[in-house]
Amino acid sequence: MSRAFPPGLSEQQFERALAAFAAVIGSEAVLSTDSDRHAYRDIYDHRPQDRHLPGAGLAPASVEEVQAIVRIASEHRVPLWPISRGKNMGYGGSAPRLAGTVVLDLSRMNRILDIDVKHGHVLLEPGVTFFDLFAVLQENDIPLWLSVPSNSLGSVVGNALDRGNGYTPYGDHASKVCGMELVMPDATLLRTGMGALPDSVTWQLYKYGYGPSWDQVFMQSNYGIVTKMGLWLMPEPESTLTLKMQCPNEEDIGWIIDAVGPLRRRNIIQHNPNIGNFMQFAMTMTSRSDWYDGAGAVPAEVEAAIMQKLGLGWWHVNLTLYGYDEVNEFHAGLVRKAFAEHTSQPFEVHKWHRGQPLDIESGAGVPMTLPLNMVNWAGGRGGHLEFSPVLPQDGARCLRQLQRSRALFRQYGVDYYGSYTVGERHVNKINMIVFNKDDADQTQRCHQLFHDLVAEGAADGYGEYRTHLSYMDTVAATYSFNDHALLRLNEQFKDLVDPKGIIAPGKQGIWPKTLRERKT
Ligand code: ADP
Repeated sequence: MSRAFPPGLSEQQFERALAAFAAVIGSEAVLSTDSDRHAYRDIYDHRPQDRHLPGAGLAPASVEEVQAIVRIASEHRVPLWPISRGKNMGYGGSAPRLAGTVVLDLSRMNRILDIDVKHGHVLLEPGVTFFDLFAVLQENDIPLWLSVPSNSLGSVVGNALDRGNGYTPYGDHASKVCGMELVMPDATLLRTGMGALPDSVTWQLYKYGYGPSWDQVFMQSNYGIVTKMGLWLMPEPESTLTLKMQCPNEEDIGWIIDAVGPLRRRNIIQHNPNIGNFMQFAMTMTSRSDWYDGAGAVPAEVEAAIMQKLGLGWWHVNLTLYGYDEVNEFHAGLVRKAFAEHTSQPFEVHKWHRGQPLDIESGAGVPMTLPLNMVNWAGGRGGHLEFSPVLPQDGARCLRQLQRSRALFRQYGVDYYGSYTVGERHVNKINMIVFNKDDADQTQRCHQLFHDLVAEGAADGYGEYRTHLSYMDTVAATYSFNDHALLRLNEQFKDLVDPKGIIAPGKQGIWPKTLRERKT
């Protein structure tokens, strides 16, 4: 397997740096064999040349070890890419942006440091997974609910840092963060918000602290390494009531968004409902070869056959109401009324009541991995990419974006899977691009499709909320108001806190000055 070294370092210099790391954290925590490096690659990497090949991995066991690593990295000029569990699937997994960067794997730091049942919050180390936290809450009958992303293999902390979404009322994970501890690029230990007050008893209760508020600055950035995070959890409701409907036509998404938006903004619908097309289900439960083996995107008649055979509409609407029985029933009446203006179809109803087991139907955040099955759709060794623009809650605009992106998918011969997650004021649109990694022609088409989607979205006024490593510069370039004033500020700040460019160079398109010329 080919190797990559940190920029400007020879193999010998790099080996010396690895020996210095081993002297502090033990050689067993320095992961530098071929198979180690292979394990930290992006398993869905869809292009032949490896621009994200890790130089090695380091797995510290404590905050003190993280600080020691940062000091050595700074001395030897070794860039570090912090990961919590590295399950950022579709966005690069555990791989770094820049080849030769050393992955700082925090998965051994996996303690749940505090669960405050009364106030509904936790304090976590980065290595705690959604499955870990769910198991502890369940085993101890703690009436607090998680919100989980559709692939829940990863870390609670890592997902919030990349502004991942879940589907309960606490589904905007970044907004539920309350207080962090970080190791800064000069190895200083920092606590944000109320945590800056020694012995504070409100670190996880009040988000802002005193003076400027920093938590959001450390998300999707490369200014520090998060070693602890406070997170609010949702008090278990008395009951939930879920309303489901299959809507038959592609164009229905327009009125669905216009019906759901006002209910969402008034908090009648309190969570981020996910409205997916039939391919969401078809790709998860079946393979393309079950339906079609021709070239190009699956044609309309095959799409119709898939829907018919699987009993699906074009869109699957799934709305959950959370709270007390009477209130949920009342709110269900409001939802029915809004939908009755557009369809005579009844909703399928599911109810959950406290004391019953939590399952997917309950609307609770139950960790799952099933949706990842979709990578098997295209055959061979699968992978996926997500083009994820932020849209307004406006049916006509959502429909137009759908039609334009669908046309591009068809042009590049890629099957279309789209979903809308309706936030408080916006919609996160996911255009899922599923491919066979071993098919060079297909992966190249997917890559071109992605670039066209970014350009077309920006021309229509839409930017992505999150992106894969390979497109971080491309997407950052679309946020170009006043000659890229925001990116320039991000990079000015980078130079101030991290002058040697030690932490995650290139993340989110933010390069340290030492590497700014190397943007690829
Ligand atoms: P998950 O396992 O939950 O999917 P990852 O570990 O893959 O999360 O991290 C998601 C993103 O957040 C990555 O871009 C990573 O660089 C960043 N990140 C993860 N953990 C940390 C951390 N502790 N400090 C700073 N950045 C982090």
